[in-house]
Amino acid sequence: MPDKFTAIKGMNDILPPDSARWEWFESIVRQTMTRFAFRDVRTPILEHTQLFARGLGQATDVVEKEMYSFEDRADQRGQADNLSLRPEGTAGVVRAAVEHNLLYDGGKRLYYLGPMFRRERPQRGRYRQFHQVGAEALGYAGPQVDAELILLAAELWRALGLSDWRLELGCLGQPDERRAHRAALVAYFEAHADQLDEDARRRLHVNPLRILDTKNPAMQALADGAPQLLDHLGDASCAHFAAVQDALRACGIDYRINPRLVRGLDYYNLTVFEFVTGSLGAQGTICGGGRYDYLIEEIGGKPAPAVGWAMGVERVLELLRQKGVAAPGAAPDAYAIVPDAAYFPRVLACLQALRAAGAAVQLHAAGHADGGDGLGSMKSQFKKADACGARYALIFGGDELAAGQVTVKALRDGAGAQARLSLSDTAALAVHLKSP
Ligand code: ATP
Ligand code: MG
Repeated sequence: MPDKFTAIKGMNDILPPDSARWEWFESIVRQTMTRFAFRDVRTPILEHTQLFARGLGQATDVVEKEMYSFEDRADQRGQADNLSLRPEGTAGVVRAAVEHNLLYDGGKRLYYLGPMFRRERPQRGRYRQFHQVGAEALGYAGPQVDAELILLAAELWRALGLSDWRLELGCLGQPDERRAHRAALVAYFEAHADQLDEDARRRLHVNPLRILDTKNPAMQALADGAPQLLDHLGDASCAHFAAVQDALRACGIDYRINPRLVRGLDYYNLTVFEFVTGSLGAQGTICGGGRYDYLIEEIGGKPAPAVGWAMGVERVLELLRQKGVAAPGAAPDAYAIVPDAAYFPRVLACLQALRAAGAAVQLHAAGHADGGDGLGSMKSQFKKADACGARYALIFGGDELAAGQVTVKALRDGAGAQARLSLSDTAALAVHLKSP
């Protein structure tokens, strides 16, 4: 056993005061999703490994080497399931939609927010437990919803106060168009076999498209010169792509067409996109998604089109931190100072009423450094009131309580100003504490 326990490498504790920024972020996400008529879904963190192998594609990095998988204990019949911590959210949402027949009366607009797990090399912006917000529109074939999903992400950036992003847009066409392109790619890479690295050689016949996604600088020029999918698209795919772009232009959303945008998972077709920021170094992709019209059928549902995206929460929060965005609500409105332990029952009753009326109040409590149940001097209580960031101190002295009153002292704006207020009208007192 280790002398000291630490969190698992690549998995982070989210602690105050940072957790306040998380809560604020999550509330903005939920409000924005509601305004776009997307509804919350919560699926289990564990799923059958096969769901991801089938959904994401066997030859993807995520399935090949990044999943946390294990064999469950055998059940009574001696059978053990192979389970995985979810590495992404779409497969689980689609599984749930199929299992519960959610599409029986038309399309569904769904979102999720929660932890994902990938055994990658931990570094800035890349963790083994990380969080995603995802939006999925299931059952809609038209380009309108592709555009709407992009607008949803853009609205989230606006609501969060983030403007340092660019949108990259691509079109992956349909399977037959990709097959034609794939044949052209294989021929091209075979003709340059001497320049392929080991990864690329292995992928050449499994998934040559992945070679375009190479992070090896020595292979960049070769990848740049490869045949382009956009040249292999038919009329219907081109029309879909054009309609998405028309919608974005009409809404004033700037974008750049990236003909080589290859997403990390296998299930995409037609529209793909990424939001990228210049402020996070190598881990600059903050949101990525696209259409996945064949996934629902692949997972065993009736064929239905779909489109979605996922956003990396840690990366977005790092951007907010860099910008100095302070989350509201991190400090209580008031800190209650109690000179004598005998007053506690009355003070607690009073705080209970203040909290019911909406004020955030922290009660002074004996700390182990104060020794036993000693409350510490008034001076040390004031120090703690100040340190917790509260805007007011509430002083429950003997005189005050005898008169049915409390002294309210400003600690921030106009620090030092104080007034005695009646405890009989806690609603009015709460309003006072909440107003700056
Ligand atoms: P990357 O190219 O950065 O590895 P990806 O293509 O693997 O990203 P997706 O599977 O599309 O990412 O996931 C959507 C978003 O989730 C990414 O754009 C990124 O912001 C975030 N993300 C993915 N993997 C991690 C990770 N290991 N740690 C933190 N965030 C991640
Ligand atoms: Mg990745």
